[in-house]
Amino acid sequence: MSHDPNCIFCKIVAGQIPAKKAYEDQDLLAFHDIHPWAPVHVLIIPKLHIATHAELGPEHAALAGKMMLLGPQLMRELGVTGGFRTVINTGPDGGQEVYHLHMHVMGGPRPWLKG
Ligand code: AMP
Ligand code: ZN
Repeated sequence: MSHDPNCIFCKIVAGQIPAKKAYEDQDLLAFHDIHPWAPVHVLIIPKLHIATHAELGPEHAALAGKMMLLGPQLMRELGVTGGFRTVINTGPDGGQEVYHLHMHVMGGPRPWLKG
């Protein structure tokens, strides 16, 4: 399924739910987390509905590479200079709450709320 009408992040991609966007191209969207743990906390998602990191296959290699490259670029653009943390939660034991693949990228001066 490339789009899940019940998925909150697919709704953000479709513009049905507002988000504070940090980046967008044909493949990816990045937006600020609604409950940030750190002064800067963005989520990078593929526009394609992929439920979890465990469902990424070789056909997604270029997409996954783009996601990986976007984190540092966004941190630079958002003025993060002291380093950042990148997290992907996968499945129930991984603490995943939203089942649309997303990469958390968090930075800014500590202390942080979590992490
Ligand atoms: P995870 O536990 O990795 O699935 O994290 C899901 C993240 O999505 C949490 O950090 C939430 O705060 C964030 N989140 C959920 N709904 C929204 C939304 N509508 N806009 C921005 N961030 C959201
Ligand atoms: Zn989705």
